[in-house]
Formats: sequence, C-alpha cells, structure tokens
Amino acid sequence: MPLQIVHHPDYDAGFATNHRFPMSKYPLLMEALRAHGLAGPDALNTAEPAPASWLKLAHAADYVDQVISCSVPEKIEREIGFPVGPRVSLRAQLAAGGTVLAARLALRHGIACNTAGGSHHARRAQGAGFCTFNDVAVAALVLLADGAVQNSLVVDLDVHQGDGTADILSEEPRVFTFSMHGDRNYPVRKIASDLDIALPDGTGDAAYLERLAAILPELSAREHWDMVFYNAGVDVHAEDRLGRLALSNDGLRGRDTMVIDHFRAIGIPVCGVIGGGYSTDVPTLAARHAILFEVASDYT
Ligand SMILES: [Zn+2]
Repeated sequence: MPLQIVHHPDYDAGFATNHRFPMSKYPLLMEALRAHGLAGPDALNTAEPAPASWLKLAHAADYVDQVISCSVPEKIEREIGFPVGPRVSLRAQLAAGGTVLAARLALRHGIACNTAGGSHHARRAQGAGFCTFNDVAVAALVLLADGAVQNSLVVDLDVHQGDGTADILSEEPRVFTFSMHGDRNYPVRKIASDLDIALPDGTGDAAYLERLAAILPELSAREHWDMVFYNAGVDVHAEDRLGRLALSNDGLRGRDTMVIDHFRAIGIPVCGVIGGGYSTDVPTLAARHAILFEVASDYT
C-alpha cells in the first residue's frame, strides 16, 4: 500500500502569480509528487469540504458562518491577508476536511499526509496570517468527538509559532500543543502552546536537529498519544522569504525523518500537513514541500 495522500484540485484558489501567498505551490506540489511516483490512483484520496458542524468545534459559530457565506468583515480579511471569496472559502473548507481525512487514514494505515493544511494562525474567533480555518485543530477535535482517539499531540515545526492552534486548544486537555519556531518571526504576540521552543535567527541544521532530537523523547514520554499531527512547514529553509532559521534541504529531510521515525517506531499514527512555505521560485518551493511525502512514503 503506497503512502495515502489527500488532495483536491481546489486547494489552489487561483491567486495572481505575484500574490504574497504562493497559491500555485499546490498544483506544483502534485506535479512533484507525480514525478516521484507518489501520486498513483491507489495513493490519492480526494478531500471533501468540512461541514460547518466540524468547523464549529474549533471556531466561533458566527465566524464559520461568515466564511461559508463569504461575508467576513474587511478588518478580519485584512488580518487573514486576502479577501474571503467563494474560492478561498471552498479552499478553507476543503483543507480542513482534507486534514480530517488524512488523520482517519493515518489511524488506519499508520501514516497519511494532506497536500494542504497547517493553517495554524487561525484562532477560535477568526482567521489570521494567511490562515482561514485551523485544519489541525478541527481534525483533532473531530477525532475526539468521534471517539476515534482519546488524545493527540500537535508537533508544529513551521517556522512561525502555532498561536491559533494554542488559542483553540488551550482549554482542551486531551490535545497537547508543541511548537518549535523562530523567535523573531510572526506572530509578534505569541499565544502560549503547552510547550514552546523559540529558536534564534540563523539556527542551522545541526543545532536545529540537536534540539529536536532532545525534545521528541520528552513529548512521547508525557503520555501514550493516539495520534500525532505533524506540521512540516518548510519556511524554516534558508531561502524562504519569511523564515529566519537557515535550514538546508538536507536539514528539512533530517527533520521530517526524525519526527516520523520517532513516532512510527513506537506505533503512533502520524498525520502530516504541509504548513507554510514562501518563495517566489514556486517550483523549488513545491520540491521542498514534497520532501515530507518522500520521507513519509518510507514508513508505509
Ligand atoms: Zn509559517
């Protein structure tokens, strides 16, 4: 059985190519996965839009209704970074539905990945920082509500702090939120996760991987986790426009291998989401996101 991958062509909401959010990375990631032989018909699963009832487990009901009806107030749209029209609204519902599906596939097969997701700046009350709905928080809460898991662990290694996930899950003791990120990156006002590690600018591969190797056993020793949500944001890369942590491609591969190997070795399902990545060279950016899938495919 190949690595199970969740995808939808409408993950790409079709922004102009010069938009600050590199929307074309989604189709280019699929191209990269096809080139690696990872996107066969027995690997691909189509995301479905998350119903409002799922979204409202993580978000304020009035905000969910605003996104679905494309009536988000302009002030919030400015915080998100783009207007929420029909394509952005659909895309946000699909990405959240996709992470729920990937999590369910991970429970069945040990590991599965969404070709979107990791929208970790979306808080309970509203979206922010290019994030409309917080797909990981939605999925964690849907799985709990279904009784599919008793608990879960969020390992967020996107270069930005997982403020929205921390906000949504702060009063949910069954989900432990861990974020390791660049100290000087967005968001300026961080919302405390259950555990945060802030790294200095210019942290390279060696120091980064050393820190990660030390923390993973601590995370798995806390409890027996029924699920790990892994945000594999590639904005930690040296050539990312927004990151400051200076990882190389080898560092990215080492990071993903370390996380997946650690949890799979002790039998914990891993649901991978792609997280952030910002570069004007979008094919190169898509190749960076493909690393998660290449590594994950060794664990099926
Ligand atoms: Zn990020």
